[in-house]
Amino acid sequence: MTDHPRIPLAGVIGHPIAHSRSPVLHGYWLRRYGLKGHYIPIDIAPSDLADLTRTLPRLGFVGVNVTIPHKEAILHIADIVTDRAALIGAANTLIFRKDGKIHADNTDGSGFIANLRQNAPNWMPTSGPAVVLGAGGAARAVVAALIEVGVPEIRLANRTRARADALRSDFGAKVHVQEWVQVGNLLDDAATVVNTTSLGMTGKPELSVPLDRLNPRALVTDLVYTPLKTQFLIEAEATGCTVVDGLGMLLHQAAPGFERWFGIRPDVDDATRKAVLQG
Ligand code: NAP
Repeated sequence: MTDHPRIPLAGVIGHPIAHSRSPVLHGYWLRRYGLKGHYIPIDIAPSDLADLTRTLPRLGFVGVNVTIPHKEAILHIADIVTDRAALIGAANTLIFRKDGKIHADNTDGSGFIANLRQNAPNWMPTSGPAVVLGAGGAARAVVAALIEVGVPEIRLANRTRARADALRSDFGAKVHVQEWVQVGNLLDDAATVVNTTSLGMTGKPELSVPLDRLNPRALVTDLVYTPLKTQFLIEAEATGCTVVDGLGMLLHQAAPGFERWFGIRPDVDDATRKAVLQG
């Protein structure tokens, strides 16, 4: 019997999973670099998460991305959790190691920063405070990343105050929690403004923030990328600010996983953006 080398499989696990753009993105990179491999959306119900995740390596999977609602729970299933995933309290990338161990990492924060560096090369995160709206899972990755690149102060506001307070106690004194209803007052002298809430997404209410105190030198970004340019970004751009949409974060957070699973660091460029937008 001939021993054929296995074609590597990767994918994204979530529940539901039909909305995910990741299969289009990884499929595009596989074709672009002429690699053997497949990237598959896998719907796993929360009650099956541990069993089915542990089965995947036996089916030929070399790793998976993890999305809602499994990003936190997966940390209890992984054997090795990176420091940044532990600090954030969530993982989005698993590597199934040859020794059978499941390695969990979080690349959302590095993807967030890479997107801003690529699309706003003059952005100086150290030049002033950052305002972060929201305190969910994505906000935790954003706050960790902003601290890592040297932002001097983070003004954090969330509808549910307790969630913002928890983030303050996990990330320390650079984080200053403010009232959600006073968001407009936090914008004075901010160098960076980030929407990490799901407001503004197609089908959700708009994020409504008075922008009259926004510094025109501020960089404004939104993690929401459907629509690509949210109403919040349209309004911020009208005040003269540089704005960056959230699609680049999705592309950049995916690159490290693709490299580990398929062996090539993929380019994040206009062709990649176009492929995902058209897919
Ligand atoms: P999450 O953990 O569910 O957090 C949702 C956040 O939105 C919380 O801060 C929540 O506030 C706030 N929110 C929801 N509805 C609200 C409302 N009606 N009024 C005020 N605040 C509201 O979700 P997540 O994982 O952090 O994701 C947040 C967004 O980021 C989603 O749109 C997601 O698609 C996007 N995202 C994008 C990328 C990317 O690559 N671009 C990566 C990750 C996430 P409460 O705490 O008060 O509920």
